Amino acid sequence: MPIYEYQCSACKKISSFLLLRVTEEVEPYCKHCGDRRVTRVLSAVHVLRGEEKRIEGLLDPSRFSGLDENDPASIEKTVKRLGRDLGGEIGEGWG
Ligand SMILES: [Zn+2]
Repeated sequence: MPIYEYQCSACKKISSFLLLRVTEEVEPYCKHCGDRRVTRVLSAVHVLRGEEKRIEGLLDPSRFSGLDENDPASIEKTVKRLGRDLGGEIGEGWG
């Protein structure tokens, strides 16, 4: 499920709103100071976690145990392995 985040124009803090249904309307407001002048911000991480529950399970930290972030070959190997687990959905188009 999507999580919408809004930044308050008064105090600049972020408020998160969880939508249980896509059709649900949110009336965003700042949860910190109550101001309604808030601006929608996008959080890619939250969208991924929320809408791809299936992928979430695949992103278990143990799957990255051999990953060296500074080694492109190691990253590629890990991504390809994940891609295989997902039936090729992610592996394709990543390069
Ligand atoms: Zn505020």
